[in-house]
Amino acid sequence: MIPGSFAYHRPSSVKEAVGLLGSLGDDARAIAGGHSLIPMMKLRLASPSHLVDLVGVADLKGIREDGKDILIGAMTTQHEVIASDLLTKKIPILSETATLIADPQVRYVGTIGGNVANGDPGNDMPAVMMCLNATYHAVGKSGERRIAAREFYQGAYFTALEPGEIVTAIRIPTPAAGHGYAYEKLKRKVGDYATAAAAVVLTASGGKVTSCSIGLTNVAETPLWAEEASKILTGSALDAATVKKAVAAAEAITSPASDSRGPAAYRTKMAGVMLTRALGRAKARAGF
Ligand SMILES: Cc1cc2nc3c(=O)[nH]c(=O)nc-3n(C[C@H](O)[C@H](O)[C@H](O)COP(=O)(O)OP(=O)(O)OC[C@H]3O[C@@H](n4cnc5c(N)ncnc54)[C@H](O)[C@@H]3O)c2cc1C
Repeated sequence: MIPGSFAYHRPSSVKEAVGLLGSLGDDARAIAGGHSLIPMMKLRLASPSHLVDLVGVADLKGIREDGKDILIGAMTTQHEVIASDLLTKKIPILSETATLIADPQVRYVGTIGGNVANGDPGNDMPAVMMCLNATYHAVGKSGERRIAAREFYQGAYFTALEPGEIVTAIRIPTPAAGHGYAYEKLKRKVGDYATAAAAVVLTASGGKVTSCSIGLTNVAETPLWAEEASKILTGSALDAATVKKAVAAAEAITSPASDSRGPAAYRTKMAGVMLTRALGRAKARAGF
């Protein structure tokens, strides 16, 4: 339970952080809140020789509007997401989700950038970011690029980030005012990772769904964007028969592991149950 030894670096700019990661090579890891990385190091599942701490990089903090988008700095903590008036007003699914992550102690330190960059299918924010069609700003030795959340996750702990690249911010298109949303998470106890979870964001007009997007957490090696299920629901009144068809389409793309959270078939069914509940709450919030 004691991590291996490592050298600690504390850059004060993105340029310095990326420079360090580039020059130190494969043995170096960025550290943000440390609430995923340190446990991995204690278990010796990760043994970096160098830790590049992003906590001193002021440019990675903050939440602001940028035209039709909202930009969240990677080092923004889960607690700051919950406390943000802007996010609570414009993208309330983020505070709803953050509240379901771990416990207050973890949320005070754990960052949104660490949550999305970690690549653990159990993290809650990635599926929500796919649902919201977010884009990650990444900076490495070749400069800045933007990666769609829907293309970022390639396997368990395997993402589109190049070695030495860091996520600097998350860009989210602001959903339409009055949209419906919900994040439903089944967990064994308070503070646990999801057995299965579902994120829904939708808009409606005249009693019909005009747009719908669905993300699923911890029911495959990566978070999932349930595109087919979203398509089935668009144009519908979210009647029981259409919801059932969409839920079946969402369940069909899952491939969870059988583990201490339950057998695979159970977790697939729970993804469907979470989605049904999330759709019901999103519908009520959209006012139809
Ligand atoms: C008891 C407990 C319960 C938890 N329960 C949940 C839960 O229910 N749901 C959930 O989603 N999470 C949960 N977590 C994880 C928690 O949310 C983590 O804080 C989060 O996943 C990672 O954020 P971090 O800032 O701590 O990242 P770190 O642990 O510092 O880093 C995680 C990984 O991401 C990389 N990284 C970090 N920041 C960046 C960046 N900006 N750019 C590129 N790479 C980066 C690191 O190199 C490392 O590989 C739990 C943690 C604990 C300890």
